[in-house]
Amino acid sequence: MAITDKIYVKNHRQIGSQLETNIPKGAFKGATLDLLFQGNNLAQLDDATQERVLDFAEDFLDCNCESNPYCGCPEKKFMQYLLELREGGLGPQAIVDVMSDDYMVYAYEGDVLSFLDDSVRTLEAVEELAEVDGNREAQQEASRKKQNLSG
Ligand SMILES: [Zn+2]
Repeated sequence: MAITDKIYVKNHRQIGSQLETNIPKGAFKGATLDLLFQGNNLAQLDDATQERVLDFAEDFLDCNCESNPYCGCPEKKFMQYLLELREGGLGPQAIVDVMSDDYMVYAYEGDVLSFLDDSVRTLEAVEELAEVDGNREAQQEASRKKQNLSG
């Protein structure tokens, strides 16, 4: 399962009651995206929630793909966001705190940790392949990224 399947809406019950419906806990679930980003639903949310939902939409759902938000871009962008926080020197728990502040979503620390570990392992594999290929530039690039993520 991708990390984006393990990102949850904070207060999803409370948001559901503001919308008078049940919204799934998973932030990237199709039904959540549909419910939260329908204009008239958005207006029913309290100001603080509305602001976070709009920020989330602006930062992750802003592509022009025809199948938006089901094109895969939102998930990719969110993973990029997590990696950038890590490159900024944050540990898994701090990353969870930041995403809660920014977008009212959360994840379990252990899931974020596994995601970061997997990302480092992917870069290691890229580095090794580049070395086998004799592609020094790609090797150094992967190595540099890996250093950034390892903190
Ligand atoms: Zn897209």
